[in-house]
Amino acid sequence: MGLDMIDPLQREHLLAMLLSELDGMVYLGRIDRHWTTEFVSEGCTRLTGFNPEDILHNRKISYVEIIHPDDREMVWREINLALANNQSFSIEYRIIRADLSERWVSERGQGINKGNTGTQLIHGFIQDITDRYFREKTLAEAEQHYRSIFENAIEGIFQSSRDGTYLGVNPALAKIYGFSDPDDMIRSLRDISTQLYVIPQRRDEFVQTIRDQGVITNFESQVYRADGTVIWISENVREVRDTDNQLLHYEGTVEDICERKTYEQLISYQATHDSLTNLPNRALIMDRIEQAIERSKRTNCEAAVIFIDLDHFKNINDSLGHNAGDILINTVAGRLKQCLRACDTASRLGGDEFVILLADLKPDSKYVPKVLKRLLSSIEAPCLIDEGEYLITCSIGVSIYPSDANSAEELLKNADIAMYKAKQIGRNTFQFFTPELNKKIAERLQLEQQLRIGINEQQFELFYQSKINVKTEKISSLEALIRWNIPGRKHPVSPAEFIPLAESTGLINPLGQWVLNEACRQLRAWLDVGIAVVPVAVNLSAAQFQQPNLVDQIGESLQHYDLDARLLIIEITETRLALEEDIFLRKINELKNIGVAIAIDDFGTGYSNIHSLKTIPLDSLKIDRSFITNIEHDHRDRAIYRAVVTMAQNLDLRVVAEGVENKTQVDFLRSINCDEIQGFYFCRPVSAATMAQKISRENDQYPPENIVNFCN
Ligand code: C2E
Ligand code: CA
Ligand code: CA
Repeated sequence: MGLDMIDPLQREHLLAMLLSELDGMVYLGRIDRHWTTEFVSEGCTRLTGFNPEDILHNRKISYVEIIHPDDREMVWREINLALANNQSFSIEYRIIRADLSERWVSERGQGINKGNTGTQLIHGFIQDITDRYFREKTLAEAEQHYRSIFENAIEGIFQSSRDGTYLGVNPALAKIYGFSDPDDMIRSLRDISTQLYVIPQRRDEFVQTIRDQGVITNFESQVYRADGTVIWISENVREVRDTDNQLLHYEGTVEDICERKTYEQLISYQATHDSLTNLPNRALIMDRIEQAIERSKRTNCEAAVIFIDLDHFKNINDSLGHNAGDILINTVAGRLKQCLRACDTASRLGGDEFVILLADLKPDSKYVPKVLKRLLSSIEAPCLIDEGEYLITCSIGVSIYPSDANSAEELLKNADIAMYKAKQIGRNTFQFFTPELNKKIAERLQLEQQLRIGINEQQFELFYQSKINVKTEKISSLEALIRWNIPGRKHPVSPAEFIPLAESTGLINPLGQWVLNEACRQLRAWLDVGIAVVPVAVNLSAAQFQQPNLVDQIGESLQHYDLDARLLIIEITETRLALEEDIFLRKINELKNIGVAIAIDDFGTGYSNIHSLKTIPLDSLKIDRSFITNIEHDHRDRAIYRAVVTMAQNLDLRVVAEGVENKTQVDFLRSINCDEIQGFYFCRPVSAATMAQKISRENDQYPPENIVNFCN
């Protein structure tokens, strides 16, 4: 039933009621600059704060005055534009209420022709939308805000479906993954698990973790970029569920962590590798040994720990410089690796020490000796340093899990002990660990302890052995030889037993100083009681040349006992000669300058070249004992001896034959014009007192040849 069908009165009533119920104002008005109203509904009061009577026909106030001054022009323009086009209008603007508060309203309306006067009117509905307006505005602003974050973030942001497709991604993510824009990425990546993750199971782990925990944090994976390159990313993702707790999608962020990963890898590499050779370092090899032990326990396999120490590396380092030393270490590192299987580990402990791990070996594996021989021969090959060829060898010790030890530390220690044994038996060889070795080490430690006490308590004594002039058969000089009288022991301990230990522990310095001082003291004592003395030779270890004040010490001792420097001869073993390093040469020269004579000891055992014999200011040369032993039987030894004597004399060096034990040897030496002889044949090393008697006795018959020079 249409409204026009009911009674007009009733209709008016109904309309009035409807209008009063409306939340807003219905109006009818003219199109003039006042927006003169002809009708307003009761909603006017609530909307504007003015009563309808005040507004109608602009009685107290016109509607245009209620419109916010800034919006009046816009309202006029918009409504007229719509009317001109015969359209309805819908606008939003501000009004100022009677209480001067500002509100937002929406107005919808249209034009009508009023009767036949042709007057244009408009009617419409105006509603307060302030609350909605601000709600929407905030929302729009928020939306804008988040969109901006989404679009401009440096982090990748995404929404993805459970079945592995992207629902939305931001430009940053597209960029991280190497796509031109988000659409390109969503189109191209249809299956995240197979197309994105380098390890496809990674996606399953991802889904599983999210299912269990609802979120996933710092989930680090390697992924393929569009061009196929691989990068590291870290994801933080959560589930998004609807009000019925149904999973809608995942949303999260992606960070490119390549730089951090590279840095982390670098840091962890540096912490576990030696910077010079790039080999694993001690920490890493210990870890590998421990792992190998654990595996061997399960598989009944064995593991071998090989300790390698270069022979006389210090000499190369000291004489050629650290740079050359580094080149050598690197060359060795490279060679070690070449001797091994891919599953073996070569590491550098530091200095010239290397450790190799051979893991997962069958019991009694033939592989170990094979590797050892390979190692020795590959290191022995000449090394090229600065266009010079150098030879280096190594000493190797081996310990085996489980027979030699149960822990990585013990295995390493025992391999070290075995290596030490290899050094002792002459270097350039390998030794397996044995329990007896362990005992020896314990003894060595004990001996070292005793040696310290011995030095503190002065348990040492110098013995003297004479050297005889071949032509005159008179004593030409003496050699001081150290003896160690350990309390409670019947016989003194031979220097062969403790000098190497003293050298390797640094105790040689206090010991050597004592020897020098004692020899000088003895000379002075002999002089004071009128014994016709001859020069005394003192043995100096190579290590003593490392002392900065060696020459001063010798000079002070001579001065302290008021001795002519020509009474002292310094014997240096030949091995030292090979290295004509500056410091060594300078010290020899300084010694010469204060008047001390220099002799080369054990000549023939080292590898000095003839050139060094010429450049070092030497006085005499002692041919090593080993050359004399077979002189009677071996014509080649005789030839060598003859050649050395001739050569030395051509260089103006006196030649001393060591270890002469019988008359045949003396006759041979005389026949080749050797200058001096030392050996049991004439005299064993004896105490100072015995030597004093000997000299005095001999003096009565034949005065020693050198005596005249020194005793005035
Ligand atoms: P060296 O300097 O070659 O001394 C000669 C060694 O040969 C001495 O052994 C001596 O007793 C022994 N000898 C001498 N004549 C004969 C012989 O006819 N036949 C045999 N078979 N041997 C003979 P010693 O006293 O046991 O000394 C051993 C080594 O210890 C010395 O060899 C020397 O290198 C070192 N040494 C001794 N005293 C000192 C010292 O005060 N300081 C340093 N640094 N080393 C010393
Ligand atoms: Ca000597
Ligand atoms: Ca000697």
